[in-house]
Amino acid sequence: MDNEDPLRKFKERFHIPEVNGQPAIYFCGNSLGLQPKTAAAFLESEMRSWAEKGVEGHFMGENPWLYARKRSKPLLAGLLGAKELETVAMNSLSTNLHLLLVSFYQPKGKKTKILTEPGAFPSDRYILESQSRFHGLQPKDTIIQVQPRKGEHILRTEDVLRSLRLHADELALVMMSGVQYYTGQWFDMRAITEAAAEKGIPVGFDLAHAIGNVPLQLHDWGVDFATWCSYKYLNSGPGNISGIFVHERHAHRSDLPRFAGWWGHNEETRFLMDKDFEAMPGADGWLLSNDHVLGLAVHQASLEIFEEAGLENLRKKSELLTGYLEFLIRKISGDGGILEIITPSLPKERGCQISLLIHKGGKAVFDALYRQGIIGDWRNPNVIRLAPVPLYNSFTDIYKFAGILEISLREFV
Ligand SMILES: *Cc1c(COP(=O)(O)O)cnc(C)c1O
Repeated sequence: MDNEDPLRKFKERFHIPEVNGQPAIYFCGNSLGLQPKTAAAFLESEMRSWAEKGVEGHFMGENPWLYARKRSKPLLAGLLGAKELETVAMNSLSTNLHLLLVSFYQPKGKKTKILTEPGAFPSDRYILESQSRFHGLQPKDTIIQVQPRKGEHILRTEDVLRSLRLHADELALVMMSGVQYYTGQWFDMRAITEAAAEKGIPVGFDLAHAIGNVPLQLHDWGVDFATWCSYKYLNSGPGNISGIFVHERHAHRSDLPRFAGWWGHNEETRFLMDKDFEAMPGADGWLLSNDHVLGLAVHQASLEIFEEAGLENLRKKSELLTGYLEFLIRKISGDGGILEIITPSLPKERGCQISLLIHKGGKAVFDALYRQGIIGDWRNPNVIRLAPVPLYNSFTDIYKFAGILEISLREFV
């Protein structure tokens, strides 16, 4: 499979971390993606502009800082299935989610509730709860978490849709992950968006685990807004810049409440410094500050690799890699007595992550895997998350991993 893999060369474009002096098998791209070897040169180029031109770097050189964010727009739009107008890189994920909720979560009268998934990432829960309090409401009265059925780990789309329709009169917002960080479930974003649209309820997605992982069609699906981070599958470096998507139908809405800043103001008159706020059309209208040039440089290095590899090709390989990993784990673990795979089995319901729920001794297994050069990710109380990333993981990585897992399970479980 590696010999026939058209993307195999991309592994060489990344710095692979070492464990005990040997290159690791890195299955942690869902937490922090690896560093592209080109990233340092992209960063260095902006450092040089700064050194050589000082403030003039805003206007001079190949990539004047005044327009820095524009370079990433077509590449982000491609990953999102969006128009350039609909997306912009800015801030960090949690900040952006708050800014977007200021605009799209407007509880009124009976319609105050938010439909969401259970066990969402803590930041997302804190954000929804604090937004609810910000409007003088109690989170326990406003947040509805659709639960999986008894004995199941993943949510059934039909249950999400039923709950959405049941509560439609009280819902002010539907807010979900695209791909759930813990189970790895890729929700049926299209079905959820269409059901919400039918009832006139805005829909937002947190794409932290979806962007660069699964193909998205945010524009065509009609999603209202989305945000993500760039340091997971997008390989743009720890804490680096996030981005937002706002559907074209909101591009010229001056009626939406928003927390405004000078960079979201009409570019033509921004530097007159005396005008009343007039939002840029599209996602740019949510910008607050001038561009994070150093972060954008590293982001750009990574986005160009995605452009070259092609998301469709990556997805094809991703389905094969993840399927192979699942196949070997099932073969090793037998009937489910030792561990359970809590990630959906159907490719259309997952990205490139497999989450293992180990019934006992999970942490010892995880530590043993690390000692033998496998970098995965441990989540309390008992889940190991593994993400074979098509840009820099191979079929051989998975084969080697399976051998090590088999021995570790025998030793510690
Ligand atoms: C990674 C992740 C975050 C992190 O938020 P930051 O603001 O970037 O620290 C938030 N939500 C989800 C769902 C995530 O997966």
